[in-house]
Amino acid sequence: MTNFNNYDYVIVGCGLSGAVAARILAERGNKVIILEKRNHIGGNMYDYVDKNGILVQQYGPHTFHTIKKELYDYMRQYEEWEEYKLMVMAEINGVQTPSPFNFKTIDQFYDEDEATKIKEALLEEYPNQKKTTIVTMLESKNEYIKKFADFLYDNDYKLYTAKQWRVDPERIDKSILRRVPIVLGYEEGYFDDEYQVMPKHSFTKFFENLLNHENIDYQLNCNALDYLEIIDDRIIIKNIDKVINVVYTGPIDELFNFKYGKLPYRSLEFEWEYIDKPSYQEAAVVQYPQDEVYTRMTEYTKIPYQDRNDTVIAKEKSVDYDGDNEPYYPVLTDESLEMYRNYKEKANTIINLILVGRLADFRYYNMDQALESVLKKVYFKEEHGINK
Ligand SMILES: Cc1cc2nc3c(=O)[nH]c(=O)nc-3n(C[C@H](O)[C@H](O)[C@H](O)COP(=O)(O)OP(=O)(O)OC[C@H]3O[C@@H](n4cnc5c(N)ncnc54)[C@H](O)[C@@H]3O)c2cc1C
Repeated sequence: MTNFNNYDYVIVGCGLSGAVAARILAERGNKVIILEKRNHIGGNMYDYVDKNGILVQQYGPHTFHTIKKELYDYMRQYEEWEEYKLMVMAEINGVQTPSPFNFKTIDQFYDEDEATKIKEALLEEYPNQKKTTIVTMLESKNEYIKKFADFLYDNDYKLYTAKQWRVDPERIDKSILRRVPIVLGYEEGYFDDEYQVMPKHSFTKFFENLLNHENIDYQLNCNALDYLEIIDDRIIIKNIDKVINVVYTGPIDELFNFKYGKLPYRSLEFEWEYIDKPSYQEAAVVQYPQDEVYTRMTEYTKIPYQDRNDTVIAKEKSVDYDGDNEPYYPVLTDESLEMYRNYKEKANTIINLILVGRLADFRYYNMDQALESVLKKVYFKEEHGINK
C-alpha cells in the first residue's frame, strides 16, 4: 500500500494533463505520485503495438497539431516528432470527398456551371478568407451559398451531429458545428496548424520519457476516489494526517459524488478488423455521416504511415455514456454548462485542489489546449500559492 506521507502532491489521472502537471511539479522539487485507474499511462493518447505488429491507438485517432511553437517545443523535449498531415474524407451519397469540405466537394456534387457560380459566390462573400463555417454559410442571403450550405447541413453536419451527440442539432452548442470549417479553395488536410506531427516512436514512449523523473511515481489500476475525501475546504487522503495537495484530472462531477447531478458525455465503441491487404481506404480517417451505425473508420497503418502488406481498421460508433464506459466528449448545452459552473464554484472553495484537463474542466480540449492549460495553471499555482 502506498505511503502517501512521502509525497507533496497526489495527481489523479495519467493522461497528458496529469503527466505534464507531475513533471512540472517534480522539476520544482516536489515528490509526486500519480494514481491512474486504467492499466496504462497516457490517457486517451495511449497507443500500443497490436498482436499483428501494427501500432494502434486504443481510444481513437490522435495527431499532435498546434499553431504555437512553444507548445510543440515542450512536446519535443520528450520524444522525436515527424511531420504528419492528417487526411480525412467524408462519404456522401457513395462519393468520398475531402473533409473539411473544399472546392473539390463543390466540383464533385454540382455540374460545372453551378459549381463555378457557388465558388464565385463564396469568394465574393468571404474575400481574403481561407475558410468559413457552416453556421455562417447557412445565414447567407446568397442563393448559391445557401443551397450548398443546405446540402452540406442536410447530408453531413446535421446527420453527423445528431448521431455523434444524440442531441437535436438546434440544441447543441454552436462551437461544435464550427469545429469543422469549410475551406475556400482546394487545399486539403484536416488541420492547417503550422505544426502537425506524429511521434517517431509512439505517444506511449513520449509519456514514458515525460514520467521518467526521480520525483515521480505512478500507480496503475487505482481509482483515486477510493483514497480521497473532501472535508470542508480541504481535500484529504483518508487515514493520513498530512495535508497533501491534489491535482485532479478526472470528471469533476465524480469528485463531488454527483452532488449537482451527472454531467452528460458521449462515449465511443470501436470494432476492430484486421485486413490481409496493404490498404483499406484512401485516407487515414473516413467519416460516414449517412451510415446509420458508424460515425467513422480509422486505418491505423496510415496514422502514422506503416509500410506493410496488411492493415487494421477501427469502426467507430458514438454511444451513450453510462458511467461504466469512457466519458469521451462533454455534451455542451446550456443546462450542462450551468451544472458544470456549480461544480467549479464548489471546487474553488477547496484550497489544496488544482483542477486541470478535459474532464475536470468539462471542455473539449485538443492536446495543445490541454497542454497550454496545464502549463499555465500549475506554474501559476506553484508560483503564487495553491489557494490562489
Ligand atoms: C477520439 C478522440 C480523438 C482525439 N484526437 C485528437 C487529436 O487528433 N489531436 C488532439 O490534439 N487531441 C485529440 N483528442 C483530445 C485528446 O485526447 C485530449 O486533449 C488529451 O488526451 C487530454 O488529456 P487529459 O489528461 O486532459 O485527459 P485524459 O487523456 O482523458 O486523461 C485523464 C485520465 O484520468 C484518469 N482518471 C479519471 N478518473 C480517475 C480516478 N478517479 N482515478 C484515477 N484515474 C482517473 C483516466 O483514466 C484518464 O487516463 C482526441 C480525443 C478523443 C476522445
